[in-house]
Amino acid sequence: MKTDQAYLELDKQLLWHPYTSMSKPSPHFLVEKASGCEITLNDGRTLIDGMSSWWSVIHGYNHAVMNQAIQDQLSQFSHVMFGGLTHKPAIDLAEKLIAITPTPLQRVFFSDSGSVSVEVALKMAIQYWNTQGKVQKQFFVSPKSGYHGDTFAAMSVCDPENGMHSLFNGALTQQFFVSPPPTGLHEPVKHEYLDEIRRLFESHHTQIAGFIIEPVVQNAGGMRFYNPEYLGHIRSLCDEFDILLIFDEIATGFGRTGKLFATDHTSICPDIMCVGKALTGGYMTLAATLTNDKVALGISENDGVFMHGPTFMGNPLACAAANASLSLLMEYNLVEKIAQLEHWMEIALKPCESLKQVKEVRCFGGIGVVELLKPVKLHEIQPKFVELGVWIRPFGKLIYLMPPYVINEEQIQALAKAIYQVVSEEPC
Ligand SMILES: *Cc1c(COP(=O)(O)O)cnc(C)c1O
Repeated sequence: MKTDQAYLELDKQLLWHPYTSMSKPSPHFLVEKASGCEITLNDGRTLIDGMSSWWSVIHGYNHAVMNQAIQDQLSQFSHVMFGGLTHKPAIDLAEKLIAITPTPLQRVFFSDSGSVSVEVALKMAIQYWNTQGKVQKQFFVSPKSGYHGDTFAAMSVCDPENGMHSLFNGALTQQFFVSPPPTGLHEPVKHEYLDEIRRLFESHHTQIAGFIIEPVVQNAGGMRFYNPEYLGHIRSLCDEFDILLIFDEIATGFGRTGKLFATDHTSICPDIMCVGKALTGGYMTLAATLTNDKVALGISENDGVFMHGPTFMGNPLACAAANASLSLLMEYNLVEKIAQLEHWMEIALKPCESLKQVKEVRCFGGIGVVELLKPVKLHEIQPKFVELGVWIRPFGKLIYLMPPYVINEEQIQALAKAIYQVVSEEPC
């Protein structure tokens, strides 16, 4: 039997973790189990989870209903190929997704991860224009500060500075960028911003297949909240210039912003929408790209077929997890639950505003952000949070909470208290 120490040594030697070096490994903590909103480490320490494991574990860990749903499916079959075969978990899930997303979205493509669902969305847009005879429409517009994933096409529409463009510049498709929507959920719409998009569309619409954006919240690119009204204006501009509108709801979907989808803060609908992350309640990797009949049937004209088909497409275990997660979500009074969470975070994080290291505290739905004036050193700050019994993973200047929806007020207070203490010890 290996000791835990030996495991951790092997981890350092053998394993890449997200965005890490193999010669200067950052500290990693060995997890023994997780349940509800708590993660237990090998040494018995228990951490309150403020991250929902990258925003996915919305119902908490080791949930009896989720576990049962996967076990039930496991006893039938865990996977079959989706070419030529189909199954009820996938059909049920498609039906559910169509029912809860805006009406025009009627067709579903399943893939294995958020990044791939973005690749699929971009391919759908290009293929659509192709069958419409507009073969030059191959490029995309995205606002700066966006994040859409780590695969190549997804990277090409991520923020060109924060993102990975500098490393991969020569290998990435050169897309078009516009400024990020001005921040402030209730700030009046700035028409200069829309004019910038209009000017770009006017000069390049013949090359532009789609406009991709994270609705209402730009997440990994800076936790920026903006007025949903921008999206209505962008929809109109896209219509005027024959450009498909793509919403990346991978982070915002399934309740995180206080409504089922961020799109629901508007009265408009995208042509293509990506969902992932919380889709399976954080149990399995699964994503989906939804589209309307215009795009789906357009691609299918003249014997056209959509050219994508992952090996694990529509994995039944993942679909079963997603079906169970959506059922749980429907049982919550979601609007009330997330409003409550927002209220708890607002009160608990408020004291951080007085710290001189802090630029701004902002909360929206199940997202609470403490933005600092200077970036933190992750390898220094992470162990401090663990010492304080919380799991919080900041990036750059942002220390944020995106807890499971089932977290209680006391746990929120503990998370906020830890943030206050750790931030107050930061140099300024
Ligand atoms: C996380 C994320 C992705 C990428 O999803 P993966 O499952 O990590 O590939 C894409 N878009 C947004 C908005 C995300 O938050």
